[in-house]
Amino acid sequence: MILRLRKGFAPEDLNAVQALCAKLHYQSRFLDEERRLLEVCPERGLGGAPDRSLFEDLACVESFVSGNEAPELHLSIPGREETVVSAAGAVFGGGAVSLIAGPCAVEERGRLAEIARAVRASGAVLLRGGAYKPRSSPHSFQGLGEDGLTMLQEVRSEVGIGIVTEVLDPRDVERVGAVADIFQIGSRSMTNAPLLKEVGATKKPVLLKRGQAATLREFLLAAEYVLAGGNSEVILCERGVRGFDDVTRNLLDIGAVAYLKQKTHLPVIIDPSHAAGRRDLVTPLALAGLVAGADGLLVEVHPAPSEVHSDGRQALSLDAFTALAEQARAFINLGGRRLVEPDPAPVSV
Ligand code: PEP
Ligand code: MN
Repeated sequence: MILRLRKGFAPEDLNAVQALCAKLHYQSRFLDEERRLLEVCPERGLGGAPDRSLFEDLACVESFVSGNEAPELHLSIPGREETVVSAAGAVFGGGAVSLIAGPCAVEERGRLAEIARAVRASGAVLLRGGAYKPRSSPHSFQGLGEDGLTMLQEVRSEVGIGIVTEVLDPRDVERVGAVADIFQIGSRSMTNAPLLKEVGATKKPVLLKRGQAATLREFLLAAEYVLAGGNSEVILCERGVRGFDDVTRNLLDIGAVAYLKQKTHLPVIIDPSHAAGRRDLVTPLALAGLVAGADGLLVEVHPAPSEVHSDGRQALSLDAFTALAEQARAFINLGGRRLVEPDPAPVSV
């Protein structure tokens, strides 16, 4: 049951709703404070729909909204500020742009620390590397799993940089969440509702990648799963969709960036690496994404791409990433926004 509360309701009137809920063993939570939508449902394990008649005479209840009529949580509201997602020094949205960089997969500890130091020195505020890799073939390298998480944890405190890493399985959310500052949900998992619900039940930001052939409506509904679970910290990531041409690995949908920035209040970033699939096109695509309004970049970087198990062809060298960060800074400033820089002194994250 969803209640719409009266405009300017008094705190004591809200207390009365919450007290009634507690007495009836119902839970209440704001689905959307801006729109004054309060969801009321029985506590876990207790069946039965809440009884409307018990609530209709309460001072702050204006009306009841059916699930179908409730405005979706991802939609922007005129006059409302956009959502700003912050994690380990990074800020996405509200005019702040942050860079995320790292190898496709965590493979070797020394290499990971080297990349972390280099990308941090060039302007990345978060290190991204996969311990669990969602590969198209079951015979391809699947990531180092728990050993990879341990390496990320060690490099995180050694270098002082926050971590973005993918969670593939709902059963791993707690384990990955112990290391990650932001959960990545990959393209192949965008429609995995149990996984979306599981990260939606946490308070940790979620970087949600667009599915390989997902419409923007499907992408937004995947985000809606996380938001409906009570986690409002969602970053949308455009990473290209399957096209008909094999010149690039995917077709970066720049229009999607501009559209999503209008349609939702959520921050939007782009991943030019998986879109291009080749390093020579990563920088121009990254800059195009920023001009279209992206609040951040997710870029694959590796000093020895011929040695890696996955995505070597699209990895930027450390120097190329430095050059990209410099150009990104200029474009961002030109657009009147700011690039969030790493703390010059190693921070404890
Ligand atoms: C990745 O980020 O390394 C990855 C596999 O990306 P995607 O889910 O976009 O294919
Ligand atoms: Mn990759």
